[in-house]
Amino acid sequence: MASARIDLDGNPIKPLTICMIGAGGFIGSHLCEKLLAETPHTLLAVDVYNDKIKHLLEPSGSSSSSPWADRIQFHRLNIKNDSRLEGLIKMADLTVNLAAICTPADYNTRPLDTIYSNFIDALPVVKYCSENGKRLIHFSTCEVYGKTIGCFLPKDSPLRQDPDYFVLKEDASPCIFGPIEKQRWSYACAKQLIERLIYAEGSENGLEFTIVRPFNWIGPRMDFIPGIDGPSEGVPRVLACFSNNLLRHEPLKLVDGGESQRTFVYIKDAIEAVLLMIENPARANGHIFNVGNPNNEVTVRQLAEMMTQVYAKVSGETPLDSPTIDVSSKEFYGEGYDDSDKRIPDMTIINRQLGWNPKTSLWDLLESTLTYQHRTYAEAIKKSTSKPLAS
Ligand code: UDP
Repeated sequence: MASARIDLDGNPIKPLTICMIGAGGFIGSHLCEKLLAETPHTLLAVDVYNDKIKHLLEPSGSSSSSPWADRIQFHRLNIKNDSRLEGLIKMADLTVNLAAICTPADYNTRPLDTIYSNFIDALPVVKYCSENGKRLIHFSTCEVYGKTIGCFLPKDSPLRQDPDYFVLKEDASPCIFGPIEKQRWSYACAKQLIERLIYAEGSENGLEFTIVRPFNWIGPRMDFIPGIDGPSEGVPRVLACFSNNLLRHEPLKLVDGGESQRTFVYIKDAIEAVLLMIENPARANGHIFNVGNPNNEVTVRQLAEMMTQVYAKVSGETPLDSPTIDVSSKEFYGEGYDDSDKRIPDMTIINRQLGWNPKTSLWDLLESTLTYQHRTYAEAIKKSTSKPLAS
């Protein structure tokens, strides 16, 4: 199977060695799974944690080893301060950098960590790729677009309906952030600067790069469930927050009315796009790609309603009479929070270069994800809530 792989131009794909930084996270775990199961490529998986890829590193049966055991090596290291990093980048044909703080609850409460993680810590990765003539696929964010132009128009302006005022294009849309005191934008700004640096390395020093801008990728293993596999006081992204509320039979919290709009794409669809980038360098190098699903747009309120219905279906539990409650952003996230109003990705470039299109509807992706959440966490939550309080 694997040796017969051909690229989009009909050329055979030679087996690659990929240095994947942040392989133990949500996206990394799905990308590792895909590469091991469907390609002949070898992975140097770099992370500080490996909980989400344990199933790929350890054979499930005690005597048998997995079919890909010789194609994945885990390197536990922190890219901030480890001299082994350059060696791993040199050994690989390609580096995929996924390492970053990327939960909004951190942007305004830990802005220094956010800026360091997304800009400063990424610098050596870019430098080593550039100096050693190695290809880099760097994960950025749709948040670099910030707010839409349309949100500054009067509420009743008909131009708000015009896609020119809200659809986000890699090569045309501006990056619009709030004032410095709104520290929410520390993440977007750090990501924008690393994108500009990578782009400049490309134009001045010939770095072969691809930048990925994920638009709300969601699915199994995303973030953590507070108090179960993450800190009780931690605030993950919306999918995990709402899953946590549903698992605990609590109302879902709508921040500032739940009016912001998002487009959600299934992680497995998005991973297909990344695989195309990996295996089609001639089509992917020098490009920035939006990766999202423009057909799956909802307000956060609609997302809450849909997740409530889907969860009732997959768990067999009756929803609460009042399934949502309103909460202010100050109460939920603290001082300095702000929000992107709407995020619709333009798909022209990824379509033209890689012929990629997302497939999974929002209902279907929520159904498979919430089935996973229920199976993985319902028992643990029951146990944790029935524990007697320590005296
Ligand atoms: N949000 C919410 N309730 C929650 C968690 C998030 O209403 O429990 C909102 C948040 O304010 C934002 C949207 O959901 O408008 C998406 O938030 P997420 O943390 O997933 O990341 P973002 O898309 O903003 O990067």
